[in-house]
Amino acid sequence: MSKNLENVWSNCLEVIKDNVPLQAFKTWFAPIKAVKLKSNILTIQVPSQFFYEWLEEHYIELLKKTIRKEIGPDAKLEYSIIMENNKNSSNPYTVKIPTTDKRAIKNRPVAMPLDISSNPIRNPFIIPGLRKVNVDSNLNPNYSFENFVEGDCNRLARSAGYAVAEKPGGTAFNPLLIYGGVGLGKTHLSHAIGISIKNRFPNKTVLYVSSEKFTHQFIDSVKNNNTNDFIHFYQMIDVLLIDDVQFFAGKEKTQDVFFHIFNHLHQTGKQLVLTSDKPPVELQGMEQRLLSRFKWGLSADLQVPDLETRIAILQKKMYQDGIELPKEVIEYLAYSISTNIRELEGALISLIAQSSLNKKSITLDLAKQMIDKFVKNTAREVSIEYIQKVVCDYFDLPIELMKSKTRKREVVQARQIAMYFSKKMTKSSLANIGMHCGGKDHATVLHACRTVNNLADTDKTFRRYLDDLEKKLSLQ
Ligand code: ADP
Ligand code: MG
Repeated sequence: MSKNLENVWSNCLEVIKDNVPLQAFKTWFAPIKAVKLKSNILTIQVPSQFFYEWLEEHYIELLKKTIRKEIGPDAKLEYSIIMENNKNSSNPYTVKIPTTDKRAIKNRPVAMPLDISSNPIRNPFIIPGLRKVNVDSNLNPNYSFENFVEGDCNRLARSAGYAVAEKPGGTAFNPLLIYGGVGLGKTHLSHAIGISIKNRFPNKTVLYVSSEKFTHQFIDSVKNNNTNDFIHFYQMIDVLLIDDVQFFAGKEKTQDVFFHIFNHLHQTGKQLVLTSDKPPVELQGMEQRLLSRFKWGLSADLQVPDLETRIAILQKKMYQDGIELPKEVIEYLAYSISTNIRELEGALISLIAQSSLNKKSITLDLAKQMIDKFVKNTAREVSIEYIQKVVCDYFDLPIELMKSKTRKREVVQARQIAMYFSKKMTKSSLANIGMHCGGKDHATVLHACRTVNNLADTDKTFRRYLDDLEKKLSLQ
């Protein structure tokens, strides 16, 4: 009985979907195409070498199990990799995995026009005494929940925000304090909460304001002798979103007036959402009584997004702007800029701008050139050779041994460590790392990385070697 390709693969996808987070599913499985099923070999087409390695590294067990369940115990998986868009694209591209070979299909051109219209936040000065309904919420419609990509890095903050939006003032999350580093989405998320509340409860008065603006307004009100109006105005707000409260640090008078507004709103069941670049305990120059108020509700942090989330964010942004980019360019951007989403978006925008100015298509090379200029503060990538040299010096081994095929114990270990650091600190593919380290294949490199991780967890001396080496390598 022959099985039908579509059925088999869609059954596999069903199972996989239940076993990985939705975001991961969308990033890594939705783009896969099943292209062939012959006897017991299933061939799937993936968009890039990188993609293939990611699957092998993170999902191979799941894939194996699922495919065996569908096709039978001796089912095999083959990958067909779409060629990267470069000059050598006429060469067929082959990757080895333990039992089989797979071939590439063809290259993919892309370059699209752009329309980067940034939508600035309106900036009205709020005039005290205005009728409630006339308060401009000061919300940027682009910063919605729909445009906010969910990932492990923001799950708690996002769901707390969502809960608050469903029931402003009616949850335990009051105040909701969202904290995290620069460019990780604090402002976006607080706007999203505001927008969502405005949509659900049009009669509620929602106000987004930065702490800086709040401070200036307060100072002006003192100058103009209408501080009471200022306070009354804020006390009639139903949902107050105050961004970057760390700005209040050291400003006693402003903290004082905010304290009173806070109390009034809280007591009357109104919702407060605050953001800060630090957790409450680390906020210096803030009055104790205010800090303790901040802790009444929930503090949720935004962390640095992982690679999958970064890719998803870029994809979302491209989709919104109607832009298409080669997969490997997106991956490269997401790989290179890891700690700040604003920078990531900035890189995407300048890449598109450059390409349209110079009428060049967006290729991996262009992305690499741009990133080199753009990301000034990221450490330069170390090379595999350099890593090998540092490791060999450290263990006092001649480098030729590391590159040879010898299986002497101490050489094997040093080689594994070099592979591990190469994987960690360079953007080389597993296959390439293996080639440099005694002509091994990608599976050996993967195995090496796992072995090193395991040893690091169980063996203190080994852990110390790694720490020493890591220091040396990052001092480059
Ligand atoms: P912060 O206020 O923490 O410095 P922002 O909220 O200004 O950061 O976010 C910086 C940029 O990154 C914004 O353009 C925002 O839309 C985008 N961004 C941040 N987090 C996400 C996310 N999870 N999904 C989509 N875009 C995001
Ligand atoms: Mg901000």
